[in-house]
Amino acid sequence: MLDDNLAQKIKDSKYRLTSQREAILEVMVANRGKHLSAEEVLQKARDEHPLIGMATVYRTLDILASMDILHKSMFDDKFRYELCDNDRHQHHHIICLSCGAIAEVQEDLLHILEEHLEKKGFRVLDHDLKLYAYCPECCQRQKNLAR
Ligand SMILES: [Zn+2]
Ligand SMILES: [Zn+2]
Ligand SMILES: [Zn+2]
Repeated sequence: MLDDNLAQKIKDSKYRLTSQREAILEVMVANRGKHLSAEEVLQKARDEHPLIGMATVYRTLDILASMDILHKSMFDDKFRYELCDNDRHQHHHIICLSCGAIAEVQEDLLHILEEHLEKKGFRVLDHDLKLYAYCPECCQRQKNLAR
């Protein structure tokens, strides 16, 4: 089921939600907090709609991103999609250079920079910050190997 906020956003747009497109949105809702590639969305959507095609998935994901329902971001040369945080700045991502795991940093922590820019007359709407690191598990593994 779609929550009211999402249903309203779609109602306000001129976009018609066909059952295949709805299946794609439901995959994203069911995987809230995950960062899915179009291929992964296709796989999951096919559980319900075996005939769904890649082109439909790509198109639907991009339309939902343009409506600010999904956040689209490039990870490791591949676009990944996730459900947007409602009316909040995008959380940051920290990507492990060893295993590729994507973790989220929920704290904004950019207020000093945002305030600084607003004083200069900018109105900051959002940001898309990626940090590259070794995750705790990979650090531990490297330590164990070194012994
Ligand atoms: Zn912010
Ligand atoms: Zn790792
Ligand atoms: Zn995220």
